[in-house]
Amino acid sequence: MTGHTCPSASAAPGATLLGVFGPNGRAIFTPHGPKLTPELRDTLAASTEGPLEARFRFAAPCAQSACVFWDGSCRAVDAAHEDYGSPDAAALPECGIRDTCRWWAQEGARACAVCPLVRTAATDVNAS
Ligand code: SF4
Repeated sequence: MTGHTCPSASAAPGATLLGVFGPNGRAIFTPHGPKLTPELRDTLAASTEGPLEARFRFAAPCAQSACVFWDGSCRAVDAAHEDYGSPDAAALPECGIRDTCRWWAQEGARACAVCPLVRTAATDVNAS
């Protein structure tokens, strides 16, 4: 671990709640998101159908080589741009993990512009 935080983690043990998708399809960040305890997981699961990652965003310690997106740097943010483009950078979202965010460390505001659009594919991520 490097101390960096993945902003697009699966809903696995050790994750924290990063945000919830609003009706406009953008994540609304929860700056002080709670740990994803088994109880919280059950509560969130009861509020939605399908994988939690389709409705919520989670953060977790960057897994580096344990993640399919790692090749010395995080390629998940490149995939985010491929899927969602490169929106104009607006005001920075208040996400609560910026000081350790892997994507912010790599791209700064460019990552933050696309970040709220990203739906994590749970099967793509190997949080360790
Ligand atoms: S908004 Fe920016 S700093 Fe916050 S999680 Fe997304 S990429 Fe990271």
